[in-house]
Amino acid sequence: MKCPFCLTFENRVIDSRLSRDGTVVRRRRECSGCERRFTTYERVEEVLPMVVKKNGAREVFHRTKVLRGLSRACEKRPVTMEQLETIVEALERELHEAGEAEIPTSYIGERVLESLRGVDDVAYIRFASVYRDFRNIHEFLDELRHLLGPGSQRAPGPEPELEP
Ligand SMILES: [Zn+2]
Repeated sequence: MKCPFCLTFENRVIDSRLSRDGTVVRRRRECSGCERRFTTYERVEEVLPMVVKKNGAREVFHRTKVLRGLSRACEKRPVTMEQLETIVEALERELHEAGEAEIPTSYIGERVLESLRGVDDVAYIRFASVYRDFRNIHEFLDELRHLLGPGSQRAPGPEPELEP
């Protein structure tokens, strides 16, 4: 991204906004050369960050992949596809606005976990068990304790179960 005044390539993003329809990111940038500010408009597809996996491999961010993982965790739970779409959309929006070139999968996993936590505790634990790859029952119980800890708002009583 070249400065229109002095043609320096280096600049820093000082503000980043996604358009209402979610297709264009408007960025305010400050040139590292002349310190003047300019605005760029970038198509969302061009600014999607690469996802960096644990083994260092990089791949394009796929919302369908995240959705698939989510719906697996929410199987037979009272969670609608619409709720899951909303989670993924919020995540996507956040990634666009961050404007990073690369995002570790761990970051995405944690963000999805956080969103699930407010939606369905069972789905949360399922997703955590796959994503965090608990090595034993103690790690699993630790996560449960964390979820149901003193900060939990949950009222005592049986969990309502939806029959499949
Ligand atoms: Zn400049």
